[in-house]
Amino acid sequence: MDQKKEKEHRIVLTGTPVSPGAVVARVCIQDNPGLQWQEPDQVRFDPGREGEMRDAFYRAVFQAREELACLSGGAGSGCEVQGEIFAAQGEILEDEELLSRIGQAILEERLEPESAIRRVFAAYEALFCGMTDPLIAARVADLQDVKRRLLRICQGGEGQHILSLKEEVILVARDLLPSDMASLDRAHIKGIITEMGGTNSHTAILARSLQIPAISGIQGATLRIPQGILAALDAMSGEVILEPDEVQQARYRKMQEQFLARRREEARYLSRPGSTRDGKVMGMGINIGSGEVSVPGEQYDFVGLLRTEFLYMEHMAPPTEEEQYEVYRKVLRQAKGKTVTLRTLDIGGDKALPCLALPREENSFLGSRGLRLCLARPDIFQTQLRAALRASALGDLELLFPMVGSLEEIFQARACVRKAMEGLAAEGFSYNPHIRMGIMIEVPSIALVADLAAEEVDFASIGTNDLAQYVSAADRMNPGMGPYYQGYSPAMLRLLERIFSAFAARHKPVCVCGEMAGDPQGAVLLAGLGARKLSMDPASLAGVKAALARVSLEEAKNLAGRCLRLRIQEEILGELVGHESF
Ligand code: PEP
Ligand code: MG
Repeated sequence: MDQKKEKEHRIVLTGTPVSPGAVVARVCIQDNPGLQWQEPDQVRFDPGREGEMRDAFYRAVFQAREELACLSGGAGSGCEVQGEIFAAQGEILEDEELLSRIGQAILEERLEPESAIRRVFAAYEALFCGMTDPLIAARVADLQDVKRRLLRICQGGEGQHILSLKEEVILVARDLLPSDMASLDRAHIKGIITEMGGTNSHTAILARSLQIPAISGIQGATLRIPQGILAALDAMSGEVILEPDEVQQARYRKMQEQFLARRREEARYLSRPGSTRDGKVMGMGINIGSGEVSVPGEQYDFVGLLRTEFLYMEHMAPPTEEEQYEVYRKVLRQAKGKTVTLRTLDIGGDKALPCLALPREENSFLGSRGLRLCLARPDIFQTQLRAALRASALGDLELLFPMVGSLEEIFQARACVRKAMEGLAAEGFSYNPHIRMGIMIEVPSIALVADLAAEEVDFASIGTNDLAQYVSAADRMNPGMGPYYQGYSPAMLRLLERIFSAFAARHKPVCVCGEMAGDPQGAVLLAGLGARKLSMDPASLAGVKAALARVSLEEAKNLAGRCLRLRIQEEILGELVGHESF
């Protein structure tokens, strides 16, 4: 994704835009030593100091917990996403196994606390290494961040601020850990460029929530961009121009003004219900990947996707039924009567987790993933189903099965739910015996028989991220596959239209919960193709509601009709960009 070219006699670097906006400012390079530390030799202390060293380690843990508790409380940051990340980091420091392994290394091997911390954290990080799943990458960043905090405390260091700045800058770094982001000088950092990270990295998520334009994936940026140089950053296209001339500067500044004006306009729609200009209601759902609903109730209609993978990432053992039940109960309570669509564990293959010790597969994207894995591991599936069913007695919870490829899998999943219900009934637990069950449509083989699937399920949710990956046979995580991974291809549009009409004919609801639903142009196109429910990252709600409010349903249908007649994705994207409502 990284290319360098001469444009209008200026150097242009290209990366992945991860937080929209534009800015012109001087560059400040942040050399991030925390991420580049060489692991030094293991240092041992003299016999007889074991207790003293172990106590020093636990004091560091207590201090780190206190710091994280302070940060997760927001500490005036006003950033809820940040709070969630630090709460998750605090949980790492509650992990009994991790702490006792470090304690043992100190007591039994006489390793100094810093060496023991490095060794045990390195072992944990290695378990996640080589996995490209964004959620897992985020966990590695958390582990590194917690390790760095503990080491800093052991060395007697103060909490640091990333930089003290006097002027507005674009920050350029190899990568930024959550604590770097928390200490950002928001008054002066107007843009971010990183070498590492993608759309779903912590840096990206936090930059979006702080509304700082950001571009990731510019290889060697800290070496290739000179300190203090003037740069124009366009985080819509992913381009950075070094030493822009006056015309270019004026153009980027105008772009920035327009972007901010649009943001202000969109914010007016945030608390209104989703609907087209002519008042056709569009259900607005939110996707959440933690046990927190951090969005005010007036902004959304339902939780369209509760990704439950996070529960399996926090500890080295799979979550128990009781632990899961508590989390589902909390989400239902926070959703205050709104429907919560709980997606059962969507892991496996590339998304492997240490707590599940799954065998490595040659072609993991086509391997034992999602529902397939759950069917092969009834122990894990039954525990989750029992927890979810018990929670269903407390609120409007529905079950969503991921990575379904055939009707057989639907029948098998339903049989598993029946078995869990029988067990709970025999033990005297309450649950909703009529709980709605639906499927993710993200595998072409089920999309092509959407008419048959619609007869068998209560609802469906279209996962456009995976559907595009499997329709185009292009890895969604591989930046080199960008030109092949086509979310707006004619094939995708035809398939989507077919799914909407199959479900509409059977009066069964279908939602879209992939990234396309959170893209304003994608959302209008989906409405035109037949979508009436969309679920997205909460940060996308304002832009999508505003885009829908600018078109009538008839206009959206006409746009979709025109796109369906086009032959290649480029023409379709051109039609969308050129539409007067955008
Ligand atoms: C999808 O595939 O579109 C989806 C929503 O699921 P995930 O991104 O979690 O695979
Ligand atoms: Mg998916």
